[in-house]
Amino acid sequence: MPVKGTFFVETYGCQMNEHDSQKMCELLQKQGFSKAGAIEQADVIVINTCAIREKAEHKVYSSLGSLRSAKIEKPQTVIVVAGCVAQQKKHEFLRKFRHLDLVLGTHQISQLPSLVSRILEKRERIAAVEFVDNIESLHMSAPNYSSSPICSYVTIMQGCSNFCSYCVVPYTRGKESSRSLEEIQEEVSGLATKGIREITLLGQNVNAYGKDLYNFRRFDDLLQRLSSIGGIERIRFTTSHPKDFDSALVEAIASIDKVCEHIHLPLQSGSDKVLKDMKRGYCLNDYFEKIELLRTKVPKCAVTSDIIVGFPGESEEDFEDTLNALQKIRFDQIFSFKYSSRPGTIAQGMPDQIPEETKRERLAKVHALQDSITEAWHRDMEGSIQQALVEGSGRLPDQFHGRTRTNKIVNFDDNGSLSLGDLVNVRVTKGLKHSLLGSIV
Ligand code: SF4
Repeated sequence: MPVKGTFFVETYGCQMNEHDSQKMCELLQKQGFSKAGAIEQADVIVINTCAIREKAEHKVYSSLGSLRSAKIEKPQTVIVVAGCVAQQKKHEFLRKFRHLDLVLGTHQISQLPSLVSRILEKRERIAAVEFVDNIESLHMSAPNYSSSPICSYVTIMQGCSNFCSYCVVPYTRGKESSRSLEEIQEEVSGLATKGIREITLLGQNVNAYGKDLYNFRRFDDLLQRLSSIGGIERIRFTTSHPKDFDSALVEAIASIDKVCEHIHLPLQSGSDKVLKDMKRGYCLNDYFEKIELLRTKVPKCAVTSDIIVGFPGESEEDFEDTLNALQKIRFDQIFSFKYSSRPGTIAQGMPDQIPEETKRERLAKVHALQDSITEAWHRDMEGSIQQALVEGSGRLPDQFHGRTRTNKIVNFDDNGSLSLGDLVNVRVTKGLKHSLLGSIV
């Protein structure tokens, strides 16, 4: 196929977005484009956006603004904005940014090649933002464009039906919609034949997988079936919702060898009042009980979480409850954020919005506490033997890095016989703040 030109995809936000960007890259490659070395050199530029936090949205505006001069210099450049902000803003983006050619909604990714062709031929400006009913049409064959030759994401569902009061996802990605088990199996088998050894199943709420299918399926059943695919050595998944996290999933983590001992279970707040205002559907005690069950059945399981500070109405006592919960649960790691008001959500109109300064102070306290807990976990691992998948070069020359089954990064010396994708046993020699050091056993 003759090379049509070059493309560049810039990504903001979560793993879901990274994976969508991989799909877009693959589609553009199949269409005859090759990857540009830098954004300003590309003939097709895609900005894949995230609407979860205000800050990420602002970055998109500044990115789009700075592309104005690229378009003036090279008017034939096709500029595309995709992802959740595109889905939210729709035609408003075309009105605001006259140099923008295409607004690509979250359900329209597979249409990217035909829309780019239309723009190149007719110089139209297009907003393709409809939601589709058929989930299968959202997914193409497995991306070849994964940034890793041995690890790959696999989308198992799209959207979310939970409507937490602060979140835009149900509005930007639509309601929960699961892919068929057969299609996922086929995709994973294809990845295995291409040398992929570790998959991460993606969905906004993977525990709800299959509930919307006409032939109802369970997430633990999906894990069981994928585990029988030869060549795949490790299975991870994210994100889980505490209200749907159940004993069947705990059993699956405990009993299926290939399922790694790590769960990401966003708590968001340690205050029952705040959890209720967030419409999370569980209380702190429910959460504790689920973690207790998990740690009883799978004692070595790592637990990571998300925390939001400064939700509207969060008092000092509510915030103390969050700090106490962090101390009691002792997560391996957390991702913590200041509450960010999002247009169209219930929380945006709530009274008692918290001042930025207070949010900043609370976030700093959460960081300090969690950093000490994470480091203590890592120090506790010193001397232990961990299985690592060799994923790439390490921090120093002659080092490799990999992740343990519990999803911790470990750097270790090359013994001269290692290759990418090898599973090796590593003795942890030092636990650091964000990673581990080890040596091959
Ligand atoms: S579970 Fe809540 S926070 Fe997560 S994607 Fe759905 S609505 Fe958003």
